Parts: sequence; C-alpha cells; structure tokens
Amino acid sequence: MSIILDKDQGIENELEERIGLECPYCGVYAHMSPQSVPDAASLLRDRPKHVGLVYQCDSCHAPVFLRFAVREYGDNRVELLRNFVELERPKERFAFSYLPQHTEIMFREALTCYSNNSFNAFASMCRRAAQSSFIAMGEGGKLRAFEEIMAAQKIAGISDDAFAPIKAVLFATGQQEDLPVLNRAQAGILLEILKDMFYQCFVRHGKLTRAIKVRRFFVSEDNGNLQLA
Ligand SMILES: [Zn+2]
Repeated sequence: MSIILDKDQGIENELEERIGLECPYCGVYAHMSPQSVPDAASLLRDRPKHVGLVYQCDSCHAPVFLRFAVREYGDNRVELLRNFVELERPKERFAFSYLPQHTEIMFREALTCYSNNSFNAFASMCRRAAQSSFIAMGEGGKLRAFEEIMAAQKIAGISDDAFAPIKAVLFATGQQEDLPVLNRAQAGILLEILKDMFYQCFVRHGKLTRAIKVRRFFVSEDNGNLQLA
C-alpha cells in the first residue's frame, strides 16, 4: 500500500486512507487526515528523495508533520512509501513535581531522549536519574528501589533474560561505558519500570500524605464550626 500524489488530482482519493497515530499535541491515538500536500508537478521537477506532508489530527485539529520516502516517480504521479517518520513525537508525561529536584532534572532529560528515539542516551539518563533518587532516599533507598522493581517484574511477568539489561542500567555499579545497548523494545520496558519505581518511591507517598493532610484540614475546619455553633 502506498500514497499517490497525482499531478492533476492531488492526493488520490481511493488511496487516501487515513493514518492513525498518537498525536504529539493531544496525546490521543487518532486518525490523521491530509491537510497540506505538496504539489506533484514541482516534486516531478525536483525529484526529492523525501517528501513532507502535513496531516490534521481528527481529535484536536493540530497540524502534524510527517516525512515520507518516495518510492517511485511516474510520468504524472509520485508514489510514496507508506511508512513515515514522525517529526514531532508525543512527549512522555510524568508527575514530576513529586520527584526530588535533581532526580526531576535527570528524568525529564531521559524522557526527552526517549521521545527522540535516542534509546541509549535515554538509558544513560535513566542511570543518572536512578542514582540521584537513591541518594535522595538516603540509607536503604537503593535496596528499597530494588525491591520495587523486582515486584514490578513479577507483576508484569517479564522474563529474567528480558529484565537483565533493565536491572543492569538501573542498579549495576560499573561505569557508564559498561551499560548494555538497548533497542526500542527494551527501552520501552525500562521506561515503564523506572516510572513505576519512581511512582512507588515518591509519587505514591507524596499523593497520599497530601490527600490525608487535606482530609485533616477539613475535619479540623468542621470541628471549628461546631464549636462556634
Ligand atoms: Zn491531536
């Protein structure tokens, strides 16, 4: 299946099949419809190897830029390969405000690397974010974090082989140079495991204590009102 840009008809209707992807703006997995399509006549003249199309997100109507490789130049038409490169990737979200300040800085950069498909830069930053969190947690913090990821491995049913590189990135004591090389799938697991670890060690505690503080506040307010009545 490919996309055809015709000199006279523009993007061909029967092949205009919409694209589905996670929108970098609203985060919804949505259909994208062509919004701005290059002029086939100028493509046929310049014959670039790659072509950019702007799609519109059906959910939030934001413009999303995609780059396609040209499969073939015909007499009056340009055929594009259907697999495309997303120029803007969705940003990974996290409740950063619950993290210690230094850990937050490291983890934000880790997620930026992930969103840019730089999976080994991501792994290096995960190591730094994890190290920073162990220091912030104080004595016994690293052991506690380790117990959390072992529990997560069990819950998610990840095999020991698949989990070994994740464990090495977060907990091995060697140099950065010794970090395992991760592919996209492994980086995805690392991302979810580290998010869960931070959630258990910081976010859960922060949310719970804040919620209880709010409950107590209203209870003492009520008591005050009763006394006044
Ligand atoms: Zn959207």
